[in-house]
Formats: sequence, C-alpha cells, structure tokens
Amino acid sequence: MSRINIVRIHNELLGTYGDQGNAEVLVFRGKFHGITGNIIDVGYNDPLPTNGDIYLLGGAEDSAQLLSLEAMQRDREVLDLVIERGAVILAVCAGFQIIGNSFWANGKEVTGLGLLDVTTTPGDKRFVGDVRIKSTNLSIDLTGFENHSGKTVLGSNATPFGKVESGHGNGDGKYDGAVSANIFGTYMHGPILARNPEFADLLLTRATGRKYAQITDPLASQYATWRRKVIK
Ligand code: GLN
Repeated sequence: MSRINIVRIHNELLGTYGDQGNAEVLVFRGKFHGITGNIIDVGYNDPLPTNGDIYLLGGAEDSAQLLSLEAMQRDREVLDLVIERGAVILAVCAGFQIIGNSFWANGKEVTGLGLLDVTTTPGDKRFVGDVRIKSTNLSIDLTGFENHSGKTVLGSNATPFGKVESGHGNGDGKYDGAVSANIFGTYMHGPILARNPEFADLLLTRATGRKYAQITDPLASQYATWRRKVIK
C-alpha cells in the first residue's frame, strides 16, 4: 500500500467552482489502486508543505485569485523544490492562470508564478459551457465545464493539454490548457477528475511513478463515456 499527500491549495479562495472535489476523486480512485491518499488543506495563511505528491489549485473570482497568487509567491522556493523532485501540479482555470507567466485580474495585468509558459489576457466575452478535448496525454476525449473570460496563449516551452473539439478552451477554440512534465493546467471544471477518472489515474501514476492497470469502475466509466457522446 503506498501513501500519497494531496495538497489542496487555498480551498477558501479557489473553491468557487467546485474544483476542490478533485482531491476527493484522487483519494477515491487511489483506493482502487491500493494507494492511501491523505488530503492536506492549505489555507491562505499556511505555509505550502514540502511533502506533497500532488498539488491542486482551482478556479476563482479575480480578487480571490490575486490573494492566492500573493500567498503562493511567499512559498515560491517550495514550489521550485517540489517541481524539481517531480511532484504533480493540477491547476484549473484561475489556478492555471496563476501558474502562468502573467494574467489580468480586476482590470490589471499581474505577473504569475511562471511554472507554465503561458500568458493570459482579458477576453471580450465570457466563455461558459461544456468543453470536450482530445487530450495530449491520454488517447481519449476529456470533458469539462468552462467559465472564464481570460484568453491564454502558449509559449514555446508549453504544449497544449488538449485539442478542443467542442467549446472554447484557452479562448481560441483550438486548444485547452497547457502541460509541461508533471505540471497540468486546464480551463476544465467539473470537477475534471470526477468527469474523467482516467485522468485521475494518470495523475496517480505520475505521482507514484507506478503504472496502474485499468480498473473496473463501471458507473464512472459509463458516465464519462456518456458525457463524451452528448457534448457535440
Ligand atoms: N477570473 C478568471 C477568468 O475569468 C478565472 C475564472 C475561473 O477560475 N473560473 O478568466
């Protein structure tokens, strides 16, 4: 039985869109693979733990997004350290923007953490609705729900998380998110791991360095397959 620490960052700030559920899916899914997942909730005033295997960031409104960035900047060295040893980072929407090079919030441009080579600018409308992408890391479509106004462009050191088949993704309708090694950014809420259990398995594989066989969880698989079909 292996044990992993799942660090849920700033639930009180980055919990608006339900992405905190990603931590629970990792624990649930981990059990199938003989992994005990321990969720560590880190608040705005808490130091970022160095012993995490998976670090999770969710979506937020602009003001909360800025506070979260401010707190993360205090622990910049911790982030570098954990990335260096291969920890997994999953950042959704505001979280994705925070870990990029720069983004706009409350009408101002701010410098992000620069963990992913992406730049976000304000869009002239809000992108709201279902998304379906062909993922880069998995040979299946993933689905999610987007709700953002930022438009994100990838630099040369990032590859897209997936190719958009339905919805807007990064705002261009072509790609969603970005990936670099074990750092994943996406606009897809859902929570994404609840809607795409295969992606949860991939993150567990990356976090533990072990390859997990496909598990049988018929309801989760049926639901994911149904979603892929209904999002045109
Ligand atoms: N405030 C950001 C935007 O609108 C992020 C929104 C979100 O996390 N859903 O682009």
